[in-house]
Amino acid sequence: MTDGILIVSEGDCERLIDRTRAFSAVEAVFGAMARGDAYNFPVIREAIGYADALYGFKSGFDKAGLALGLKSGGYWPGNADKGLTNHQSTVFLFDPDTGQLQALVGGNYLTAIRTAASSAVSIAHLARQDARVLGMIGAGHQAQFQLRAAAEQRSFEKVVAWNPHPEMLPKLAAVSDSIGLPFESVSAEDVGRQADVIITITSAFEPLLLNDWIRPGTHLACMGTDTKGKQEIDAAIAARAVVFTDEVAQSISIGEMQHPVADGSLSEADITPIGAVINATHPGRTDAGQITLFDGTGVGLQDLAVAAVAARSAAESGNPTRVSLA
Ligand code: NAD
Repeated sequence: MTDGILIVSEGDCERLIDRTRAFSAVEAVFGAMARGDAYNFPVIREAIGYADALYGFKSGFDKAGLALGLKSGGYWPGNADKGLTNHQSTVFLFDPDTGQLQALVGGNYLTAIRTAASSAVSIAHLARQDARVLGMIGAGHQAQFQLRAAAEQRSFEKVVAWNPHPEMLPKLAAVSDSIGLPFESVSAEDVGRQADVIITITSAFEPLLLNDWIRPGTHLACMGTDTKGKQEIDAAIAARAVVFTDEVAQSISIGEMQHPVADGSLSEADITPIGAVINATHPGRTDAGQITLFDGTGVGLQDLAVAAVAARSAAESGNPTRVSLA
């Protein structure tokens, strides 16, 4: 890309990146990570002592996809009162040949769609082909994206859902309705007992799903835990499961696997990067009775992957917005 810095707005991203493109970009970068062609740099995340905000950077380099850069952003709890999204992010892409800033890309929609793509990739590669009931634990902003992306991976016949704040469920039910999937609001226990695939996407700090509720053959995509101390599922589930993740280092430090690793019921060596399954160097699910668990912690390379696709598409569109620092 030449001729100045490309500006790709949130609206541009929504027009340029759909679920299919996000899925392909995230699947490819997970594969590149497992081959050693792409790596994430250490994450910075700080409470800044102002506006109760958490702020930081996720960054990395994908030598295969030639994406270099970072996502800057965080969480401003007071934003909702100002009519703004609490989570705010922007992706910066740099030219890997020169280090010059290539593009500034709105990161809010991209975060939602790349996180949904992550659990969708896990379902595509690990869930039983005959999965028919999709379970949702969580009903916030991100849950709506997760549901749409998951629904495309198997021939689901219904959605069963539970959320700690039941008043949030009607919005998720409307999404399910809009894609023609019957939706039932049930207890957390019944999500565990009925669903073939379960996505957890909450801000919980204690287990919402207990071990006894999970049936053999279930696939779980645990997506909400992205910080030390958060937890969505009983750690004992991991000890029964074949465990996959986007990145092992994050899984055991800030992901859901921090808990079974801390209590000694799981070791780092028991966790496989999902990229190995994508690259066919690990068989993934080998038995219909296995519980498979994907710990989706959210890595910077996912953001760069979808932002790079958005930037390329914007550059190829008739009239991209550019500014110059010169
Ligand atoms: P949101 O604020 O829109 O929704 C929050 C969800 O968590 C709701 O279901 C709410 O009922 C539930 N919740 C809130 N407080 C809770 C508590 N104390 N205990 C249990 N549940 C609680 O948020 P969102 O954008 O939907 O994000 C949901 C979670 O996903 C957050 O933890 C966020 O950090 C995480 N996230 C992860 C990734 C990733 O890549 N893994 C990406 C984006 C967001």
